[in-house]
Amino acid sequence: CGIVGFIGDRQAAPIILEGLTRLEYRGYDSAGIAVRDGDSPMEIVKAKGRLKVLFEKTNGGNSLSGNCGIGHTRWATHGEPSEVNAHPHYSDDYSVVAVHNGIIENYQELKEKLIKKGYKFYSGTDTEVAVKLIHYYYNKYFGNPIDAINRSMVRIRGSYALAVMFKDYPDEIYVARKDSPMIIGIENGEAYFASDVPAILKYTRNVYYIGNLESARLQKGSVTFYNIDGEEIQKEITEIKWDA
Ligand code: GLU
Repeated sequence: CGIVGFIGDRQAAPIILEGLTRLEYRGYDSAGIAVRDGDSPMEIVKAKGRLKVLFEKTNGGNSLSGNCGIGHTRWATHGEPSEVNAHPHYSDDYSVVAVHNGIIENYQELKEKLIKKGYKFYSGTDTEVAVKLIHYYYNKYFGNPIDAINRSMVRIRGSYALAVMFKDYPDEIYVARKDSPMIIGIENGEAYFASDVPAILKYTRNVYYIGNLESARLQKGSVTFYNIDGEEIQKEITEIKWDA
């Protein structure tokens, strides 16, 4: 399983698909991608099986237009491998769209809470619960993505490398991590995230390591890190000297 994302001035989909192929060694049963162009609606494509199927469905990513996107290869833990259970997952209004590696251990309890609040679920995944929890807190906390993610991290038990696009925030990707791998890469006017360095080494050697229970906002060419209290934190960039 793996995640890759990109934001910059180039087309995101081909870069994301290329990155995902470099994470194939991690194993997966399905894959998916969400891309957006400025504040245009999110385009989401999912496929069961090999990445090749996703490549074919999107003409190598060329049928998707957008400078900002998130991609995922899934190793199913909750919900069978299928197109509907493949990531990205989304809120009903598509205002929150996310990919996730890891396991939400208390998803059942959180799901029941959300159902009482009126949420409906289309998949069998633990991830959809996390996405809708973020959507719930996003609306409760006046549309602040970092507050919504931090509040959700307080409630979620388990492991995650999570990447979220919010409809109201074009040209930004929000990420969070606990006990699942994720790195962030920054290049002139571009930002990347991935499960592992080889996925983005072709594009950048400037990498940040995000810690447990930390979140970050990625913008074109920059990243801002936060602790779980929403306070900005500083990090050192690492230059990768080896080749994949
Ligand atoms: N637990 C999630 C699912 O089953 C994510 C699995 C993964 O890490 O790919 O959909």
